[in-house]
Amino acid sequence: MESSLSSTASGDWQLAPVLNALPHGLIVTDAAGTVAVCNPRAVELLELPEEFHRTPFPAEMLARHLDSAPAQDDGDILCFDGGRIVKLTHCPTASGGSFLLIEDISAQAMQERARLQAESEYRSLFDNAVYGIYRDTLDGMPVRANPALAALNGYDSEELHIGAVTANPWNWYVDPTRADEFRRLMETNGRVKDLVSEVYRHQTGEKLWITENAWYVRDADGKPIFVEGTLLDATERMANLGEIERQANIDSLTGAANRFRFLRRLDEDTRPGMKGCALFTIDLDHFKEVNDSVGHAVGDEILKSVVQRLQDIAGDTGLVARLGGDEFAILDSGPEAVAQQAATANTIVASLCKPIPAGGRQITIGASVGVAAFPADAGSAEELLRHSDLALYEVKSAGRNGYQIYSAELSSLLQRQKDLERELRSAAEAQTFELHYQPIVECRENRITGYEALIRWNHPVLGPIPPDVFIPLAERTGLMTDIGAWVISRACEDLALLPPGIRMGINVSANQLRSAGLFEHIATTIERTGVDPCCIVFEITESVLVSNSDGARSLLGRLRDLGAQIALDDFGTGYSSLSYLQKFPLTEVKIDRSFIAGMFEQKANQAVIRAVLGIGRDLDMEVVAEGVETDAQIQALSELGCRIMQGYYFGKAQPITDVVADLALKIMAVPAPEPGTLAASSG
Ligand code: C2E
Ligand code: CA
Ligand code: CA
Repeated sequence: MESSLSSTASGDWQLAPVLNALPHGLIVTDAAGTVAVCNPRAVELLELPEEFHRTPFPAEMLARHLDSAPAQDDGDILCFDGGRIVKLTHCPTASGGSFLLIEDISAQAMQERARLQAESEYRSLFDNAVYGIYRDTLDGMPVRANPALAALNGYDSEELHIGAVTANPWNWYVDPTRADEFRRLMETNGRVKDLVSEVYRHQTGEKLWITENAWYVRDADGKPIFVEGTLLDATERMANLGEIERQANIDSLTGAANRFRFLRRLDEDTRPGMKGCALFTIDLDHFKEVNDSVGHAVGDEILKSVVQRLQDIAGDTGLVARLGGDEFAILDSGPEAVAQQAATANTIVASLCKPIPAGGRQITIGASVGVAAFPADAGSAEELLRHSDLALYEVKSAGRNGYQIYSAELSSLLQRQKDLERELRSAAEAQTFELHYQPIVECRENRITGYEALIRWNHPVLGPIPPDVFIPLAERTGLMTDIGAWVISRACEDLALLPPGIRMGINVSANQLRSAGLFEHIATTIERTGVDPCCIVFEITESVLVSNSDGARSLLGRLRDLGAQIALDDFGTGYSSLSYLQKFPLTEVKIDRSFIAGMFEQKANQAVIRAVLGIGRDLDMEVVAEGVETDAQIQALSELGCRIMQGYYFGKAQPITDVVADLALKIMAVPAPEPGTLAASSG
């Protein structure tokens, strides 16, 4: 545009180029209210129409135009539709007129608007963020804190928060070394990433977990001037983690440490240089039987009480763990624990011997405890565990309810037993046992009334192992249930091969009698093999009567109902008295062979035999003399009134094939045989 300056108005032709080149618009009004100068930039910026292009024109005309300007802010800022924003600056002149300076501030205004927009967005983030945001001085004093951070610290506003943090800001960490860690990370990495710490909520002092991120705000030279960061309340997450960790470490029933936690502690305690520890491995005696008879809910109660008692003994230094069903351990650390190991073991046994109230009654179990110490008895966690186990094994072999401290001599002895146990287990799995049958005879009529099934184990290396040796082992290791079930099956199958009326004695151990499913197994076996239940004689020992369990009594009753006979085996060796005989549904008593063997040396033996025979007659029970080896014994027993006998004199136990062959020969044999060559009973 050409200069719109009028020569008259300016009065100074020298100014025209200057006015034309001015980056701002300039309008000069004289005292009479006439616009004398209006430079092209003013025309452009104010978007003045044609009639303003030439001066002079009345200032009033300009004022009207500006009043109707498209957008007006506070009067000094005009916003035009096209987006241009101009700033007007009025300035009176000495002669009574005025200058109007017009600046294009569109770019600046846009920037400012963007800044304000951004600021409001950031403010919204700052104010509404769920995580705490802060700016601190380098020594940790708060400069800014958003509402979330204030709230995390228990305050309603940023001001309250900042005002409250006046003293040492670092002591909000529960563990003071976290503050050092924070500073160390800032110094070495220039930032902190996902640092998890426990802190005190500033206002209340309660503890909470936080996750922190932080970085430096630097000046133009890169020198740190502030620390900024974010904080997140991680209490819930840590609680979940804690719960997961807890569940991974704790036996859910009893609250004791579980095997995993126990092994970790065992590992820690047996590291080189550790001060020593004592390991007590604990087995509850007969818990399985108790559990079967009282039910699992009561069994659980017992286990909880056991842990409670162990915890009382272990105190603060010992870890109580449940390693399996009824296996527990206490791991006690320090030289004191090692020095006290015998006393502690004794306390454990004594404590677990005391009756435990459960299910509305008092239940007595006992405990066997094996003890080994580190480093005296073992050089590693694994060895310590093994040796403590070995000592426990010895207690169980010796009849339970006691403790044993590991020694090197024990080790080799027990290792052999353990080997045997392992082999017994595989023999039980492979069913490599045999049953042999020993005849039982009616002396007067000289006939075989039946047989007793006796188990045989032929060890591949050691040869035949007597049942007296491996049956107690099988009992201890829980293998007897399976082995006993096999005996019942095989004895019935073999009985089915024998002439009708021949009876079959089957030994049933006390543990076996308590095992679940025994009755069902017997019933189905009788059904399957088709044998006459009246021909089966279950031989039980006095310990069954002494334990006086309702379960045993009712099981024997059910077996009687089935038609089976019940014999009391080894009578006289146990603790039962004659009065027990009438309390149980017995059909037979077997006098132990020790009474027969010593009947001439010990006159009292004969008195016992006579008494038992008398009771047998009174109670209508058959009496069998065991271990008969000589003519003299047969003679004396016969004179006492004993008719049924068993012993080497009549024959040792032999395989079923030999029994069948023998019986066949005897049935064919005529006339009546001599002693030792007996006829078979025909019923
Ligand atoms: P038991 O039930 O008293 O069996 C009789 C034992 O006395 C058998 O020993 C038998 O061989 C032995 N014996 C028989 N007559 C004479 C004799 O005249 N003189 C001598 N000195 N001994 C004689 P075995 O076979 O060694 O069995 C020992 C024990 O093992 C049995 O004593 C029984 O308690 C147990 N047992 C054997 N087989 C089984 C079984 O299948 N189940 C269970 N639970 N126990 C069994
Ligand atoms: Ca027997
Ligand atoms: Ca016997």
